[in-house]
Parts: sequence; structure tokens; C-alpha cells
Amino acid sequence: MLATATVSSATVLGVDGRPVTVEVHVSGGLPAFAIVGLPDTSCRESRDRVRAALQSSGLTWPPHRITVNLAPSSVRKIGSGLDLAIAVGVMVANGDVPARAIEDLAFIGELGLDGTVRPVAGMVPLVDALRAPEVVVSVAAGAEARLVGRHKVRPVARLDELALALRVEEPWPDHAEPPPPPPEAPPPDLSDVRGQPVARKAVEVAAAGGHHLLLVGPPGAGKTMLARRLPALLPPLAHDQAIEATRIHSAAGVALPAGGLIRRAPFRAPHHSSTLVSLVGGGTAAMRPGEVSLAAHGVLFLDELGEFHADVLDSLRQPLEEGVVRVSRARATVSYPARFLLVAATNPCPCGEGGPPGGACRCLEHARQRYRRRLSGPLLDRFDLRVDVTRPAVFDLLDGAPAEATSVVLARVLVARERARARGVSCNAHLSDRHLEEHTSLTAGARRALEVPLRNGRLSARGLSRLRRVARTLADLDGCDGPLTAEHVALAMQFRADLATGAP
Ligand SMILES: [Zn+2]
Repeated sequence: MLATATVSSATVLGVDGRPVTVEVHVSGGLPAFAIVGLPDTSCRESRDRVRAALQSSGLTWPPHRITVNLAPSSVRKIGSGLDLAIAVGVMVANGDVPARAIEDLAFIGELGLDGTVRPVAGMVPLVDALRAPEVVVSVAAGAEARLVGRHKVRPVARLDELALALRVEEPWPDHAEPPPPPPEAPPPDLSDVRGQPVARKAVEVAAAGGHHLLLVGPPGAGKTMLARRLPALLPPLAHDQAIEATRIHSAAGVALPAGGLIRRAPFRAPHHSSTLVSLVGGGTAAMRPGEVSLAAHGVLFLDELGEFHADVLDSLRQPLEEGVVRVSRARATVSYPARFLLVAATNPCPCGEGGPPGGACRCLEHARQRYRRRLSGPLLDRFDLRVDVTRPAVFDLLDGAPAEATSVVLARVLVARERARARGVSCNAHLSDRHLEEHTSLTAGARRALEVPLRNGRLSARGLSRLRRVARTLADLDGCDGPLTAEHVALAMQFRADLATGAP
């Protein structure tokens, strides 16, 4: 006996889908099953799942030599999403299903040993890569598969009902799909933050200019509260950003919001015990985007910054510099988008109280110094804005006037971003050194204000560039074009608190 079948499917590399052709070849000889064409471990395990699924679905498992070739062989096949296509290939090669029945179809899904069809991560990029006009997926993946919008999506629950439909013995199954997720709750509003004028301003400047922000203060000062209110101050995602964010979330297997497309700036807050893989992506079982990519076009919030492993913090360098993160494993290297706004929070010292010695802080001096050293200079240098957050005053909590709402601040942010766009960048943090002279020239007063900190070493050349970008954002928020004034420069200096650097 000799028979072959060709089935369309796809695999994900990074956040992009690649079409895959599954060729199943059944020939005489001792029973055997081999998968060739650069499958990874999880993909190679298809063998056992496909055999068990076919057998428990009452379908024939040919007692012959079966070879599965996954083409193109240059693309690494990751994960279990090719199970369904391999099973269909065996069914066709076996004569259980006529070849013409699958001509217009592609298949994406994992198989359970009992023949159930299960969802896999990455439906959006996977379906997007398909050339076939129709795609068979699991019931749970139906809604996500439809997001691409170009394919007729046929959700199936089990392999046996798929076989019946392909043989036209039964109509295509009509499953009730899981209800869509409830609409997203409105994001927390800045009007909840009483007092804190400096920290509130810093959050606004971070959103307007895309400046990375470090919040330093004792527990209960509201650092997390401020950080959580930052994404709603960012502009809604442009269409191409929304598509990219959705692909990333899909590839990571993270649930998509109602409506499918991610339109709001994401907020990700990985715990300080997070592993390198969960932060930057990769992994051994399946290649998945990490937190830095899930935060793309939004905010990555690292609470208790000093508690993160040093290698995890080191790994932020590439995404912060290049806006992408590259992950290598075995013979595959993939790039994930990772352009995010970094917001971090830290206590000023181990006891959390900070302040001058002899004050509320109960730490020994060497413990304070060791704590500061953990927040290494190169990392601290990434933060354009470093702000001291103190506990709000009792007056502000009880009697203070209601604070400005997110919508009011967002309006200013959008105007500032519009000014940045006129300079050819999405925000001032992306102004290149080459363009600094042109867009952040200094008035005589501003020059005088900078002389002392430059002379006494408090401000480095690199620090000066960052300060000019921040001052530009401050000026933009005030509606000022033209050279930076002493006032804006001085305010930008305020946002470079030395508090956590250990500098005297
Ligand atoms: Zn202390």
C-alpha cells in the first residue's frame, strides 16, 4: 500500500505565523511513525497524541510505515498545533476521508488522547498565515480565529465529528461557542490620587513624553496606585499597534478582551520573583512572548525593583535600547516586539522609610548603602524621571480638593504627543541625539541653570540629553514652543532625584 496526503496548517515563529504543509506518506513495511521537517520536542510528541486520538475516535490507525513531512523544512515547527492537520493527513492517506474534501481547508489544533480538539496559543498569527479560504479549529478558538476576518472558520469539538463532516455524512457541527469575555472594567482614574502634586506631574510627563519613570518612596505612599493609572494616560493604540499587541497576546496564549482587538495600552506588572523566560520570552515547551512584549505599546511596571534578579534586570537592556527582544533556542532565534514604557517602584531603603539618618528610618547605614548598590547605576540611568513619593498628607486625604481626572490630563498628553509627532517622533523620549540641538535649544537662562550641575558632575553628558528631552515634554505640556527656558530645565532637574543612587 502506498498513499499520500497534503494538508494545510501553520506554525508560529515569534509573533508571526508561517504556513506549513503537512505531507503524510503511508507505505508498506513494518508499522512505524516518523515526523521530519524540523519539529521541536512538543511537535514530535504529536505522534502519540495523533495515534491515540484516531484510535479513540473509532478511526483507523494504518498498520504501516507512516512518515509525516512538515514543509518548508527550514522553518522550525513549535508546539502542538499541527496535531489536527497530521491526523487529517493520516485519515486522507488512509482513505477514511476523500482528498478533495480538504482542498479548501486548513487545520489548526491540538488533539487530546480521547480525540477532543483543543485550542492552541497564537490563533491570530496562525490563521493570518493561512492561504486556504476555510480553517478548522477547536470550538474554544473559534472567536479568536475569526478576528483575522479573511477565512470561514469551522469550529469542531472532536475528531470523529470532523471525520463525519468531511465525509459529508453529517453537516458541519454547530457548537455553541463560549460567551465572549465581559467588557473591560474602566481603568482606574487619576482623580483617586489625592495630593502628590510632584508624583502626579511625573506620571503626566512620563505619559506625554514616553519617559521611563522610577517612583521611590515608603510603602503606602501610593506608588502602585500611580503606576496603575499611567496606561489610561497613554493614547489609545493606533490600528497597527493594536494588531501587533493582539498578535503578541494571542501568541502568548493570553486571553483577548471583548471584541478581540487590544485597543488600550497594556499594563503588565510581573512579580519580582519572575524568571528570565517569563520576562523576555522563549521557554522550552513552547516559544512564547514574555512580559516585556505583552507590555508593548503600554506600561511595564516593576514593583520592588531592587528585589528582581540581577540577570532579569540585565535582560531589559536590549528591549529598552532596541524596542525588540531576541530569544534564541536550539536552532531558532525569534524577535518579539518590546517597546514599552518602563515604570518601576522601590523603597528608599530596606525598612522602607528612607529619609535622613536619625529620622524614621531604622536601617543601619551599611544596609542602606548595600540596598542602593543593588539598584545598579546603568539601570537607574534608564529612568528619565526619578521621583520621590511621600505618603499623602492627612489634609489631602480628608479635605483636599478633588484631584484632576484622567480625562483632563489625557487631553494635555495628546496635545503634547501631537507636538512630538510634528518633530517626526511619537514622543520626545525617542528624539535622537542628532535632533536634540534642533528641538531642544536652550535660552541663556536655561544654560545658566545647567552650568553648575554639569560642572560639579551631578549631571553627565548623557544625563543632560535625557534632561533636555524631559524639559521639552514639560514645555510641550505648557504649550511652549521654542527654546527651553530656565523654568522648564529646573523642573526637569527636580525629576532627577538622586535619592536612590546613593549619591551624597
Ligand atoms: Zn530604612
